Amino acid sequence: MVEQHLPWLEVVRLGHRIDRDKRITSHLGLTARALGADGIVLCGDEDPSIIETWNNVSERFGGTFSARYESRPMAYLKSFKKGTNERPPGIIVHLTMYGEEVSESLPKIRRDRPVALVVGGAKVPGELFGISNHNVAVGNQPHSEVAALAVALSQWHSSIAIQSRFEGGSIRVIPSREGKNVVDKKSASES
Ligand code: SAM
Repeated sequence: MVEQHLPWLEVVRLGHRIDRDKRITSHLGLTARALGADGIVLCGDEDPSIIETWNNVSERFGGTFSARYESRPMAYLKSFKKGTNERPPGIIVHLTMYGEEVSESLPKIRRDRPVALVVGGAKVPGELFGISNHNVAVGNQPHSEVAALAVALSQWHSSIAIQSRFEGGSIRVIPSREGKNVVDKKSASES
């Protein structure tokens, strides 16, 4: 069990299909991690290789991003909202093109509670609209879960706060105007 600090924010990826969604689901987790989510919960088809990919990236690039599989997403979301002995009641934020515009709805969301940021796959269960505390749109046009997540997370966090999350790891990327500047922390500490 990963220790959950507040405000804890996890992405819940519904409806993953192993035969069609490998790449987009993988990118969704990488985007979640890079843009400041604390973890991702994979739902739909069980796919250990994607969880391994996310964990490998965290090992190399640092941070404490958690990744796990959940077989009963709606039951999980209901218990997330209710809270448990270990965790206070959570807020469910569903990203959907039918929701309220992100720049209006995000500022209204309380930040003293764990947040589950839910993105759909092929077909989102209708019940999700009702159990969500907030249905949030990044524009009211259909596009991609990765794009919607990136915009929502970028509005939720400041970029400075995100940078400080990636302690540890063996690789550090130094921002550069000219090209790749990557420090291998192990060999840097040996020299
Ligand atoms: N056709 C599916 C349905 O009607 O349930 C939705 C498929 S869409 C490619 C996958 C996910 O991307 C959605 O469930 C939603 O989480 C996200 N998404 C797509 N467009 C969005 C938008 N304009 N605003 C917020 N989220 C969006």
